[in-house]
Amino acid sequence: MSTNLFDLSGKTAIITGCNTGLGQGMAVGLAEAGCNIVAVNRSEPSETQRRVEASGQGFLAVHADLTSTAPIDDILYQTEQRFGGADILINNAGLIRRADALDFTEQDWDDVINVNLKSLFFLSQAFGRACVDKQRRGKIINIASLLSFQGGIRVPSYTASKSGVLGLTRLMANEWASLGLNVNAIAPGYMATNNTQALRDDPQRSREILGRIPTGRWGTPEDLVGAAVFLASRASDYVNGHTLAVDGGWLGR
Ligand code: NAP
Repeated sequence: MSTNLFDLSGKTAIITGCNTGLGQGMAVGLAEAGCNIVAVNRSEPSETQRRVEASGQGFLAVHADLTSTAPIDDILYQTEQRFGGADILINNAGLIRRADALDFTEQDWDDVINVNLKSLFFLSQAFGRACVDKQRRGKIINIASLLSFQGGIRVPSYTASKSGVLGLTRLMANEWASLGLNVNAIAPGYMATNNTQALRDDPQRSREILGRIPTGRWGTPEDLVGAAVFLASRASDYVNGHTLAVDGGWLGR
């Protein structure tokens, strides 16, 4: 066994929504720690593939729209065929819809909940079953949000989904810790990706947000890598059901 607690050599991670943004940053970061990557996307993850392969690790792209749970069996099947299974699952795919709560539509509710919460749970369940069947240790990392802790405004389905992610992370940890599965979450702060483009394009909102972040800057995909490698590695074997904020200090204010 490597003496490096954070070494991921020989491991395989399934990461959803990693063609861009935070998912891409974590895929590249895990690959640099030695991990093969199964990239689950509805868009082509060509840039992620190039960057993962440049670090010398294996890469498999699986096409899936996680609005529905239908692709889940195929994700596990293709991972098994190519890498003999996975050790790590990062549930990162997510979307946000913004509208006043008085006007919010059922479509915007269902679309967000289906990807951010329902598929996250059923993919975790499929991954958990595969680990238990093979008596293999597993690490699940869910991507939560500051809106797992706070209410937010104009994003009702997003707040519901991310608050649900925090609760489900605890539930899965409670049931599965004794089976050799670590389930934890990362709550990113305000990060410069597509998800926050509308906020950064609004000078007043952008100023208000920046004014509250103690580090005084938006986060980047690279800022999540340390937390992701920690929660994916044996360094976190006794960490269960925790949601780790990586937020430049936002929640401390
Ligand atoms: P992003 O650039 O918009 O990335 C979101 C990813 O999810 C993309 O790869 C996207 O694929 C994928 N996705 C969305 N709907 C999908 C679907 N139906 N099926 C499969 N994949 C789907 O935003 P990001 O900031 O990197 O977001 C990553 C995660 O971090 C999300 O869960 C988000 O809620 C969370 N988060 C972000 C922030 C932030 O400040 N940026 C803060 C807290 C939490 P496409 O490119 O094909 O749409």
